[in-house]
Amino acid sequence: MQELQGAVAIVTGAFRGIGLATACELAAAGARVAMVNKDQSRAGPALAEMPEGSARTFICDVTDADCVAEMVDVVEAELGPVSILVNNAGLTRDKLLLRMQDEDWDLVLNVNLKAAFNLTKIVARGMTRRRAGAIINVSSVVGLMGNTGQANYSAAKAGLIGLTKSVAKELAPRGIRVNAVAPGFIQTQMTAHLDAETREGLLGQIPMGELGRPEDVAPVIRFLAGPGARYITGQVIVVDGGMLM
Ligand code: NAD
Repeated sequence: MQELQGAVAIVTGAFRGIGLATACELAAAGARVAMVNKDQSRAGPALAEMPEGSARTFICDVTDADCVAEMVDVVEAELGPVSILVNNAGLTRDKLLLRMQDEDWDLVLNVNLKAAFNLTKIVARGMTRRRAGAIINVSSVVGLMGNTGQANYSAAKAGLIGLTKSVAKELAPRGIRVNAVAPGFIQTQMTAHLDAETREGLLGQIPMGELGRPEDVAPVIRFLAGPGARYITGQVIVVDGGMLM
């Protein structure tokens, strides 16, 4: 039997990048996956990459708490009780601190951090009743080390680690595990805008000498979601080719 047979997973930001790779990986392990994203445009192509019948798409802006509550109800009605939540949706608005506007700060904190708080609260109610569940938050190495031009994003990703550890302590007695992954530099749309010089500079900091791929992160999330991680909670697994050690 596959290790996630019978599980229902919500993956946010699932129409491309790390979220899509994670949705594929969880489906390959036997889970039924609710792929959540704010824009309809990539729903068809994303679903086409999934094993037949393994997933459904849901359009929801994760910063909208009402929409999230409604979405979770529909997911549970259509797919069954949620046992895995992957808080992956994220974005950046990079600027040096002195140029950073309130809107840059608020948007990045809302999408990368507050949305995870909202979703976790809603999904954890059912998990608590069933005394089972796994929550994985997609943080970042910059939440551990900081980064020039990313005060907002680093603060959000560091906050996500604090959220992970606190909620892990609260929910462990109720059979729910909460962990985080902290990817380094992964080749997705999020990092596609980096110029050649920045890319070279980054490569120089990565002992393994290459940027990562979404497929390098997804199996770690699958592991944290599954029975092999039964005794692991409150941890942050760095997936960065050795950049931070
Ligand atoms: P990506 O931009 O390809 O994917 C992010 C997805 O989130 C997109 O599909 C986007 O539409 C969705 N999204 C954004 N705001 C949303 C909202 N309000 N509601 C619903 N969906 C929303 O980027 P990615 O690299 O795949 O990033 C996935 C996660 O990994 C993010 O949390 C990101 O911060 C984190 N991360 C990425 C890297 C990297 O180098 N790419 C490194 C560390 C951490």
